[in-house]
Amino acid sequence: MKKTVAIIAHDGKKDEMAIFVANHKDVLAQFDLVGTGHTAKVAAGASGLPVRALLSGPLGGDVQIAAEVLAGDIHAVFFFVEQMEVHPHDPDIHTLQRTCNITNTPIATNPASAELIIKGL
Ligand code: PGA
Repeated sequence: MKKTVAIIAHDGKKDEMAIFVANHKDVLAQFDLVGTGHTAKVAAGASGLPVRALLSGPLGGDVQIAAEVLAGDIHAVFFFVEQMEVHPHDPDIHTLQRTCNITNTPIATNPASAELIIKGL
């Protein structure tokens, strides 16, 4: 069974995420991909790969990903965080990061970390 990778990018980071998934589409093609609503569309367009879309982040998508991490159904998270903006769903962002930390799930919150994790995948 394929492992699953989650993709999330705040609006200020979606261009960087698009470049990242386009550059690594061969590795990412070996995984089932899931993302928050708008990120999933951007990632699918940039990579040409199918990306299962959950709710948009501010509407609960981060929490949905956290639940799948807790269930053991997501094996790595690429979450490009925009630190220069205030987010209405800030508690959800912390929930997802905390969930990855308590389950020891790899999470990259910036492109440099993502480059290192993808080498490990
Ligand atoms: P989006 O959500 O992919 O639907 O834009 C991302 C987020 O803000 O967490």
